[in-house]
Amino acid sequence: MATTAEHLKCKECGRTYPLEALFVCEYCFGPLEVSYDYEKIRRRATKERIAHGPPSLWRYADFLPVNEKPAVDLQAGYTPLIKADRLAAELGLKKLWVKNDTANPTHSFKDRVVAVALQRARELGFEVVACASTGNLANSVAAHAAASGTEAFVFVPANLEIQKIIATAIYGVNVVKVRGNYDDVNRLCTEIASEKKWAFVNVNVRPYYAEGSKTLAYETAEQLGWRAPDKVVTPVASGSLLTKIHKGFWELGEVGLIRRKAPSVHGAQALGCGPVAAAFQDGAEHVKPVKPDTIAKSLAIGNPADGIFALEVARQTGGSIESVTEQEIVDGIKLLAETTGIFTETAGGVTTAVLAKLAASGKIYPDDETVLYITGDGLKTLDAVADTISTYEIDPNYSQFEEDVLGDIIKS
Ligand SMILES: *Cc1c(COP(=O)(O)O)cnc(C)c1O
Ligand SMILES: [Zn+2]
Repeated sequence: MATTAEHLKCKECGRTYPLEALFVCEYCFGPLEVSYDYEKIRRRATKERIAHGPPSLWRYADFLPVNEKPAVDLQAGYTPLIKADRLAAELGLKKLWVKNDTANPTHSFKDRVVAVALQRARELGFEVVACASTGNLANSVAAHAAASGTEAFVFVPANLEIQKIIATAIYGVNVVKVRGNYDDVNRLCTEIASEKKWAFVNVNVRPYYAEGSKTLAYETAEQLGWRAPDKVVTPVASGSLLTKIHKGFWELGEVGLIRRKAPSVHGAQALGCGPVAAAFQDGAEHVKPVKPDTIAKSLAIGNPADGIFALEVARQTGGSIESVTEQEIVDGIKLLAETTGIFTETAGGVTTAVLAKLAASGKIYPDDETVLYITGDGLKTLDAVADTISTYEIDPNYSQFEEDVLGDIIKS
């Protein structure tokens, strides 16, 4: 079935372009975004049709810029939405849910954006896929390329966590470690994209890639019984995810699947790479690029492409963009683990720490229905917390167990 997407539209000047591998406006250099025929979506996408769809993001195919679902696919999405009563109690909140996107095929929300980007790339006739990655995108592009037998080139900063490098190279794709930070990698990829006819998922097919993030909002609404929460807390790297969660809830209202409502959107960054948070706090119109220095490497984008739009969404919806220290990130990872059983990577530590800050400062009220987006798995960033855990070690001997373990517990 032909897609409900109509064209690409410049976010700055509104000029429209055909649904091809384009990403900037020729006139004003603004970024392009997919726009849809919402009448068509309203007619097609009934609650019944969605409920009968696959248990993956493809149940929302009517809202995505693809003509068909992929033939071979890792079934990303439709991850659990978990009522987090113990975490809520700890923070003085009453109605808190965690959207656990660590449950995706390569353990981060990037599987959503990659699934959509690669399907569109296939429809546009690309034979090679590529990406500039802070880590999770690399894992996901590599896995999806392997699943469909597509050639892939994955570019990452050379200092990336070893877990993320291994979990990319294992798929047999070309991994290129670039001596520089993410912003350097991204610049190089933009240059390569102008030379080679490759689909760089977050460069020349970025408008399609970005749409995949909307499915986080659709799933949240469906899992809450077709309504939007009052507040959402979401990490910010390039700012794309934040803006698309907002777009997703807006679209559901537009096509009549939920009552119109824009949740307050709160963005989370690390203080060591918080250009959007800094702009929010300063009331600035522009986002000033920074040099990243944080353990939250998957959020370490110093010059965020959609930072300005994330800022706009936070301001328009009565939300905010906050930043937290390295220690708060580690504490956030532990708090989430100890109260929900979900082990998140550093990005989720950032998000959890920002939620704690918002609850403590009264920006989130106890009765607000709040959804916390946890976007990546803790097994990918073990080094961040390796020094903070404690264990016992004993000989296989009962009296030693009593003395060294139970004795120690009684003392403390
Ligand atoms: C990529 C990523 C994000 C945010 O991505 P945006 O560039 O802001 O869309 C958040 N969390 C994790 C774990 C990521 O890998
Ligand atoms: Zn334009």
